[in-house]
Amino acid sequence: MENNNGYINRVKSGYAVTSACKGCGTCVDMCPTGAMNISRKPSYIDQEICAKCGACYEVCDHDAIVKIG
Ligand code: SF4
Ligand code: SF4
Repeated sequence: MENNNGYINRVKSGYAVTSACKGCGTCVDMCPTGAMNISRKPSYIDQEICAKCGACYEVCDHDAIVKIG
């Protein structure tokens, strides 16, 4: 599996999850579009359907989500 940095580097703007993710799932409940996926850790954002609303970024207690662009 590609490492998480490779994934983050492909995101041009919006939000991405870093390796600081603890897999707690709080962000999933907040995501209005179902873009957040915690089937693996760190969780990841489906950039195709992410609305770039920032709700996950605001709610993550572990500062695991970064804003890009
Ligand atoms: S809220 Fe933060 S730590 Fe929890 S699953 Fe989401 S990104 Fe990971
Ligand atoms: S930015 Fe908004 S739409 Fe995108 S993953 Fe986070 S909560 Fe979901």
